[in-house]
Amino acid sequence: MTSPVWHPFTQHGLNEPVPLVARAQGAALFTQDGRRVIDAISSWWVTTHGHCHPRIVAAIRDQAETLDQMIFAGWTHEPAEALARELVAMMPPPLAHVFYSDSGSTSVEVALKMALGHFANRGEDRSRIVVMADSYHGDTVGGMSVGARGVFSRSYAPLLFDVDVIPFPAPGAEQDTLDAFERLCRTRPAALIVEPLLLGAGGMKIYPPSVLRGLRDLCAAHGVLFIADEVMTGWGRTGTLLACEQAGVVPDLLCLSKGLTGGAVPLAVTMATREIFESHWSTDRAKMFFHSSSYTANPIACAAARANLAIWREEPVRARIADLAARQAVHAAALDGVANNIRQLGTVVAMEVETAQGSYMSELAPRLMAQFRARDVLLRPLGNTLYVMPPYCISDADLALVYAAIGAVLGG
Ligand SMILES: *Cc1c(COP(=O)(O)O)cnc(C)c1O
Repeated sequence: MTSPVWHPFTQHGLNEPVPLVARAQGAALFTQDGRRVIDAISSWWVTTHGHCHPRIVAAIRDQAETLDQMIFAGWTHEPAEALARELVAMMPPPLAHVFYSDSGSTSVEVALKMALGHFANRGEDRSRIVVMADSYHGDTVGGMSVGARGVFSRSYAPLLFDVDVIPFPAPGAEQDTLDAFERLCRTRPAALIVEPLLLGAGGMKIYPPSVLRGLRDLCAAHGVLFIADEVMTGWGRTGTLLACEQAGVVPDLLCLSKGLTGGAVPLAVTMATREIFESHWSTDRAKMFFHSSSYTANPIACAAARANLAIWREEPVRARIADLAARQAVHAAALDGVANNIRQLGTVVAMEVETAQGSYMSELAPRLMAQFRARDVLLRPLGNTLYVMPPYCISDADLALVYAAIGAVLGG
């Protein structure tokens, strides 16, 4: 029996197994055939507090019975109003406005459009975007345009717009990145978009806060808008609520999604400074921000996000994150000699499995994934990069099982 479902990032021609999951709880997925699988990548980086957190589930249930969905252009509802107030209170002060959308990719598209709209409305000729090599900002056309190019974007290249690329700040070459950006600043670009401190899909590459701060300072000095794509790094992943905090920087535009609802339902926001909001504020309708999607600020998703924020305010989330980071560090240290370039930022541990010139298409990743699946552990390497990014609630026993599986698969 073949399924009509066309899965993302899946080559159906290889007939690799696609396990059927029936339910989830905490850090575990339960398959239809009765297996308990440890979700060691937080279901692709979205699940923060754990699957089916009771407060988020309750918020979704209550909201679904009250107001399910409504138009958001020219109308509003309390879950969106309250969530926006709570986000503004929680995030750094200059980020005073909240624009809703439904995915990380869309929050990036919105940020790019706001940056260009900002300068267009002010009559300034600035439209180029600067990006960091090896970045990932989503799979929509704008997101692909500002992300690293590769086999995954080759067929669609004619759709993509040109950007200026600064090198990844590799150890010892941090100044080259800053110098390259300073040179580009003189060409008056509109914006720089970065993943703060940790490049996710580009291979879990970590760079120091000093570089992020240097980039931010250059943006400020040259009037370039600084867009922080914290879609993956936000909500505690890197040890702090935002990765930007560790560099003491605040962006002009902030993209958040994934953990915004605790990972339960899709929602995204692009937060903007008053200045960017005000450049769109006019009696001239031609200067409004031209963007919407049908489910903008879906009330059920907003209610889930409010529950997430309440969990952050009322539960010891920061302590859980610090504890998970410490536990991850102990396990990572024990892998010394089994993998190369073992590195950690907050709750994320990454390592290289083979130094040989592996590529994204190498057979290594699917082979490893299958071996972990056989051990009831969900891990999905990025090329030769293996990483562990569990929900914050993962137990000591489950984390030990994940690392035992890594030790066995890589060591054997
Ligand atoms: C996942 C991700 C995106 C895209 O988010 P989607 O919700 O998958 O569209 C954008 N930027 C970064 C940094 C991401 O990790």
